Amino acid sequence: MPKFNGLITSKLPAAGTTIFSVMSALATEHKAINLSQGFPDFEVSPDLINLVHEMMKCGHNQYAPMPGVLQLRQIIAQKVKELYSANYNPEDEITITSGGTQALFTAIAALIREGDEVIIFDPAYDSYAPAVKLAGGIPVSLQLKPPHFSIEWNEVKRSIRQRTRMILINTPHNPTGSILTSSDMMMLEKLTKDNDIIILSDEVYEHIIFDGYEHQSVMRFPKLAERSMVVFSFGKTFHTTGWKTGYILAPSALMAEFRKVHQFNVFSVNTPLQYALAEFMRDKNHYAGIGKMYEQKRNLFMQLMKGSKFKPLACSGSYFLIFDYSKISDEPDFEFARRLTIEHGVASIPVSSFYNKPPGKKWLRFCFAKSDETLKAAAERLVAIQDIA
Ligand code: PMP
Ligand code: GLN
Repeated sequence: MPKFNGLITSKLPAAGTTIFSVMSALATEHKAINLSQGFPDFEVSPDLINLVHEMMKCGHNQYAPMPGVLQLRQIIAQKVKELYSANYNPEDEITITSGGTQALFTAIAALIREGDEVIIFDPAYDSYAPAVKLAGGIPVSLQLKPPHFSIEWNEVKRSIRQRTRMILINTPHNPTGSILTSSDMMMLEKLTKDNDIIILSDEVYEHIIFDGYEHQSVMRFPKLAERSMVVFSFGKTFHTTGWKTGYILAPSALMAEFRKVHQFNVFSVNTPLQYALAEFMRDKNHYAGIGKMYEQKRNLFMQLMKGSKFKPLACSGSYFLIFDYSKISDEPDFEFARRLTIEHGVASIPVSSFYNKPPGKKWLRFCFAKSDETLKAAAERLVAIQDIA
C-alpha cells in the first residue's frame, strides 16, 4: 500500500465522519432506540411501492433524461403553482436530483468561486459549509438567536460585502424546528435587492409545519424567487429517505448553470422512482396531511417527556425537537449523547455538530419521525434518568 506521505493534503482537514453516521452506528452497536439521524421508522405507502414495481415491470429501467422525467417536473410545476402561486417552467427551471443534499452541493459547486462568501446561519445542516469550502468559497457563519432561533437581520446587513455571493436559508429548520416568517422573507428581499446575491433556500421540510403556520417559501415572493434556488426532498415528504430523490427549482439562467454541473455529477436520477413519484403526486392527500401527522407526534413526544428533567425548546416545524439536559449533567453534548446511547439506550444528535463555533449549550436533538410505540419506549427511558452527572 502506498503511504502517500505528503501527497495528500485533505481538502476538508477538519471533517470526520458525519455525526448522523456516527450516532446511527452507535445506536445499532448498542441496540439503542435511534432518535438521532432523521428518518421515519414507519413504512412507506404500499401504493407508492407498487407503483415503483409497476414502473420497473413496464420497462422504465434505463437512464432518465438528464433534468429528470418530464411528467414529474410537470407535476412539481403544478404543485408549486397551487401552493405558492409560483410559475416555473418544467423544461428549464426544474431539475430532479439525487436528494436534497446533491441539489445543495451541485448548486454551490455551480455558482461559488474561489473567495466568494456564503452566509450560513448556525446551527446549520452539516453539509452546507463543507460544500462551500470544496468550491473554494468562504462560509460566513452567523448565529440564529435562541430561544426562537431567529435571524438577526441587522447582523446580516452588516455582513453583506462585495464578496457575498450567496445566502443559505433553511425553513422549517433542521435542527431547531424554527420557521421563517413572511417578514423574514421581506427583510431578505430588501437586503438583497440591489446586489447579485443568490439565495439558496433549503425547504425540504415544507410540509412539516405546525400550529397553523403556513410555510413561507421564497417562491411566494417574486423578487426573491428571481434570485433563488429552492431545494426539496421526496425523502422527507413520502417517508423515503433511502430513495435519495429530490428536486431543485430556479429561474432558467441559474438552472442552466446548475445543469452544467449536474450532468457531470450524477447525470440523471433513478428512473422508475421518478415515474412512480409523478403518478403518486397526482393525489395531493399523499402529502397534504403530513404536517398534522407530525404535529401529533411532536405533541405526543413532548407530553411523554413532561415528567423528565429534559427541557424542550420551541418547535414549529421539521421532525426534530431539541431538549436541554443541563438539569441532568454538565458533560459536553457529544459525551452525554454517547453515554445516553450506550448506558440508557436512546440515541440523539449533539447540537454542537451543527455549529462552526459551538456555543457550549447542553442541547440534544431528537427525531420524532417515529411510531408512537417507539416514542413511548424512548420517553420511558429518558424520563427514568434523573441525575447522571
Ligand atoms: N436539508 C436538510 C435541512 C435536511 O435535514 C436534509 C436531511 N436529510 C437534507 C437537506 C437532505 O435531504 P436528502 O436526504 O434528500 O438528501
Ligand atoms: N437530514 C438528516 C438529519 O438531519 C440526515 C441526513 C444524513 O444522514 N445525511 O438527521
